Amino acid sequence: MAPDLLLPTNHQIMRPDKDRFLSEENPFEAMMSRFDRAAELLDLEPGLYKVLRHPEKQITVSIPVMMDNGEVEVFQGIRVLYNTSRGPAKGGIRFDLNVTMDEVTALAAWMTWKCAVVNIPFGGAKGGVVCDPLKMSVGELERLTRRYTAGIIATLGPDSDVPAPDVNTNERVMAWIMDTYSMRVGHTVTAVVTGKPVEMGGSLGRREATGRGCMIVTRDALRHLGMEVKGATVAVQGFGNVGSIGAQLLQGEGCKIVAISDRTGGWHNPKGIDVNDAVEYVKQHKTLEGYGKGTAISNEELLELEVDVLLPAALENVITTKNAAKIRAKIICEGANGPTTAAADAILDEKGIFVIPDILANAGGVTVSYFEWVQDRGGYFWTEKTVNDRLEEIMKHSFAAVLQLAKQHKVNMRTAAYMLSISRVATVHRLRGIYA
Ligand code: GLU
Repeated sequence: MAPDLLLPTNHQIMRPDKDRFLSEENPFEAMMSRFDRAAELLDLEPGLYKVLRHPEKQITVSIPVMMDNGEVEVFQGIRVLYNTSRGPAKGGIRFDLNVTMDEVTALAAWMTWKCAVVNIPFGGAKGGVVCDPLKMSVGELERLTRRYTAGIIATLGPDSDVPAPDVNTNERVMAWIMDTYSMRVGHTVTAVVTGKPVEMGGSLGRREATGRGCMIVTRDALRHLGMEVKGATVAVQGFGNVGSIGAQLLQGEGCKIVAISDRTGGWHNPKGIDVNDAVEYVKQHKTLEGYGKGTAISNEELLELEVDVLLPAALENVITTKNAAKIRAKIICEGANGPTTAAADAILDEKGIFVIPDILANAGGVTVSYFEWVQDRGGYFWTEKTVNDRLEEIMKHSFAAVLQLAKQHKVNMRTAAYMLSISRVATVHRLRGIYA
């Protein structure tokens, strides 16, 4: 047995929003309670347990931006590197008014477990800027992105910390980050960020990767439960990159998408919604508002529909103790990060719902980010087929590994996924020891 790793017990995590500490909806608590359960089942040694409960680095920066009206606004930016034992920190950057240190820390921890579940050589990170990007001009967003990048530049780098898109950020934002970093170091470094435009070192298939990963594990879950893929009914919450592409690909496999939604509300049609048509509608109208091909329903109603598969692909905390008992789906595929609160897990278990946890279900995105980083570093680019084939292999293999562990320990898929990932991270810590 490796020697116990020691850390002072009073080592505290910075958490400015203490008032949310005890709330069911605090994502850090949600992450930690799952971590604790898996750590207990793994019989993790106390020192290592302490180490893995703490983020390695939390950075806060003030970002002054000259707004279009000539006034200066100051935004708060955060970057958290949760754990880098397995490789460079990896994780997206979100622009959202609800960004907090607790949330970003939880998301950075989830990235650590996510990369370990699919066994790619990265640690976990996450970043966020507190802002409302929908109310900002392109120029303001570019200045915000560049100054945020400058603020966290000391941690960035292809060997240390590699951002990617997340909520409200996209390929264009990644291009600005790559350019800012490259200008600072004096040469072009494509591998500093993933999810870039294909023309400048992005990977084919990256944009579709998270949705594709969701499709692959949903198909595997249906088969595992002895259900038909063809004709399986699916409700999708969120019609962004993950939800819309996940829905399109599931439809391509023969599933019937009976409900879709975005922040403006949802549409339900038991006969099936033509997802490609809805995607076209959103291209023209920006949202699903007024789509009209079905009955209008709320996001809450969508979650409670009687379907084979529910794909929550929007934000955190949509399945809570308030609605978990009313969920009638047989399978939940967590396309979003943290859509289910920890307290709701037990209710879903009791109802016998098969949950494919976020750290497995949405790992397709970071898996193709890894492929992008590999391609950038090698300067040799793969065909879309190669990307998709390799993604499929990793997702199928990871699903099978988690399922096997779940059966072996008689636990649900979430606990098994945490056990697999924590044991992988722990093994590297034991091998590396403590640098002193
Ligand atoms: N933001 C995505 C996630 O939560 C992708 C992260 C990445 O590719 O680094 O998994």
